[in-house]
Amino acid sequence: MSDILLIQPPVVKATEPPLSLAVLTAALQKQGHPVTVVDANLDAFLYLLSAEQLTELSGPNPTTSIHRALRHRQASLDLLRSPAAGTSFARYSTAVRHLNRLLTLWCRDDKAERLTLGNYRNQQYSVFAPDDLEKFVNGTARTLFRRYFQEQLLPQFAQSPPKLIALSINYLHQALPAFELAGLLRRQFPAATLVAGGGLITSWQRPLRQLNLRLPPFDHLVFGPGEAPLVSLATEQAASEYFLADAGSIGFCPDFDFARLGEYFSPEPVLPVSSSRGCYWQNCLFCPEAVAPVHPYQAFAPEDFPLLLSTLSKQHKVRNFHLTDNAIPVNILRGLAARRDDLQGLRWFGFVRFEPILENGDFVQQLSQAGCCILQLGLESGSQQVLDRLGKGITVASAKKILGNLHEAGIAAYVYIMLGTPGETEADAEMTLDFLEAEAEKIAFLNISIMNLPRSSGMLDDPAQYGMTEAQLQDERSELGLYQRYQVSGDWDRSAARRFLHKRLLGSAVIRERVNRKPPMFTSNHSLFFLNGLK
Ligand code: SF4
Repeated sequence: MSDILLIQPPVVKATEPPLSLAVLTAALQKQGHPVTVVDANLDAFLYLLSAEQLTELSGPNPTTSIHRALRHRQASLDLLRSPAAGTSFARYSTAVRHLNRLLTLWCRDDKAERLTLGNYRNQQYSVFAPDDLEKFVNGTARTLFRRYFQEQLLPQFAQSPPKLIALSINYLHQALPAFELAGLLRRQFPAATLVAGGGLITSWQRPLRQLNLRLPPFDHLVFGPGEAPLVSLATEQAASEYFLADAGSIGFCPDFDFARLGEYFSPEPVLPVSSSRGCYWQNCLFCPEAVAPVHPYQAFAPEDFPLLLSTLSKQHKVRNFHLTDNAIPVNILRGLAARRDDLQGLRWFGFVRFEPILENGDFVQQLSQAGCCILQLGLESGSQQVLDRLGKGITVASAKKILGNLHEAGIAAYVYIMLGTPGETEADAEMTLDFLEAEAEKIAFLNISIMNLPRSSGMLDDPAQYGMTEAQLQDERSELGLYQRYQVSGDWDRSAARRFLHKRLLGSAVIRERVNRKPPMFTSNHSLFFLNGLK
């Protein structure tokens, strides 16, 4: 056990090891600081789904569905970790259903907590309210992970107490378990320096600074890239400030030696890797990355990125890569296409913008030869007016051409649509419906959501321009809230958009089919295993 302990708290989808901790590990080890990494998310799922725990929880007379799920527990876990999962969507879906059913055993009688393989919710407490977070820290509130934390996780460190402990908190689902774990760590290791960082902590930067709020029990909160602040803390050179932010050193080469790749819930091992931090576009008005970037934009050298993929592939015997960029930069795409011969046998997927270069069919073919199997694309709307108003910087005509090129090249398009953006009308939504029906053949997977307005969206600078009459934080008591509730002047509000989604969009057979093709729970993380047989 090293002096430095990096922990990924639950809950995130346990499909791949945490990239953020792999990058921090590489940065710390390069400076001569050995690190212990614990993926407490994966370990928690394995603990909660262990036969021993579940048999005890289910008691002598389990319900029929629990009994059946228990009988299929091991086979379901095995299937999710086997390439055979990709051969039968029905068997895969059943395995996911059995495991989700078993996780309900951990949800206590008050039904406030809900855990699945994909998320965790606690309806009784708000992750945006510092008072609620404090209750998990001091132990007056608890999550269903308490037993795992106390029986399995904490005893691992008892013999050799760490001096510096960092928790990587990137998603809302992690917040309550992470604060509970932080409280337990603080009580067990009172002398350790306890730090939190990651995407969620960084997205709280503005309210925390404005209100000069602290989040006990952490000694420091890190905003943005963690490499430089953690190296400073490790060398005990960090400033005494509570908030630490230093983007001076950004790493792209991860160290995954800690990862037990065969244990993740993935039909084949997948490594996450990123060619950029932040977003090079930063103009979409609905996007938190545009108004309060988690990271300043920085990209890896395009000529070196293909080599990083092939090196990691050889080192870890992995052929699948998840590019976690907000949007893979065009130069990186060019670099990958240029080195396609070196990338034979690899597969990768990730988000791109509908960039003009993708209108070039030959280039898209080269991307396919370079291992690109899925591109995730945020179209949002089939109405040019809406796209212009949102600052998307793309055209409907270009999107149509690009979808055609991807289809031709055998790259699956995973398209994201967002209804209910301020200023959208029913006529705009009809255009989206028309576009999706006309282009359905070229769309492999479809995700449709209703917009949440980020608390500092650029639209709030001139709400009237977007037809908004009123906007306020969704919950007054929640200083850390990330979204605003808003009213619009006309009839087309979020509820109307939701009705349109369910009646009109999902009423269309071709649209519904593409929405339902997404693997349950694991969606885009597992889509690459279900590409065979797509029409
Ligand atoms: S939606 Fe994507 S492309 Fe647009 S600003 Fe956000 S991250 Fe960038």
